[in-house]
Amino acid sequence: MARLEAALAGARRAGFAERTPAVDEEAVLQAIVQVHDPRLPERLREACRRAPSFFDSADNPISPGTFAAAVAAVGCVLDGLAHIMAGNAPRVFAAVRPPGHHATRSQAMGFCFFNNVAVAAEAALQKGFGPVAIVDFDVHHGNGTQELFYHRDDVFYLSLHRYPYYPGTGGADEIGVGRGRGFTRNLPLAPGADDEVYLGALALGLEEVMRAMSPHMWLISAGFDAHELDPLGGMAVTTEGFQKMGKLLAQAAGSVPVLVVLEGGYNLDALKESVAAFLSGLSQVGSGSS
Ligand SMILES: [Zn+2]
Repeated sequence: MARLEAALAGARRAGFAERTPAVDEEAVLQAIVQVHDPRLPERLREACRRAPSFFDSADNPISPGTFAAAVAAVGCVLDGLAHIMAGNAPRVFAAVRPPGHHATRSQAMGFCFFNNVAVAAEAALQKGFGPVAIVDFDVHHGNGTQELFYHRDDVFYLSLHRYPYYPGTGGADEIGVGRGRGFTRNLPLAPGADDEVYLGALALGLEEVMRAMSPHMWLISAGFDAHELDPLGGMAVTTEGFQKMGKLLAQAAGSVPVLVVLEGGYNLDALKESVAAFLSGLSQVGSGSS
């Protein structure tokens, strides 16, 4: 909960209004199985009845409340998406945990159970808000998101990440297959990458997204574990660097809506400051809510 509090405090500082959505579990599960193996939510629900334990991986400890928390995270992201699609706000931040971008079609891993961003991308497409661009700047590669859309040309997946590093995927040669060829772009970065490296890579990646498609929705897998103070990431992005990344994304998106979804970030002060800085950079066009 401390991570959520820090992220929310950052969003408030950036001037985002707050809302706490009611979660319709059945509706959320329906959306989840549009991208995940239908057995995944049922397996997780069952496993949580026998918790405390681990689910699929040693990185995924579970308690009796994990299933509800993971469903609520997806529900919160879908509520943010609905808020955007209703025309209420062009920029929305979904402060959620657990994170999502490592969750594959049928497996939980890397602290992730359901792929929050991928579920939102599919929901946006089904509501006619495609094509969708996903930009993932968490320090880890979003192997789950990549896998889910690797063969698709209606979702572009752009990732900036430390490489080689957990989870091992994300080489520059992973570019998609079949119709999806050219709709996955990985920008692997060496340890210690700083603002200059990240901003250069992000600018390059965004140009490539826009050459490939005109997104009608931008989804951001916003991990702040590339911050210089993060205990896990080993990168050197500053708080100001995250603000500049927000600005670059705002410029690329223009009037197209942007839904920002929290992924990692493990230094609480850095997380709060980075969320505030990123969202203020992003909010240069229009206003937002969290
Ligand atoms: Zn991460």
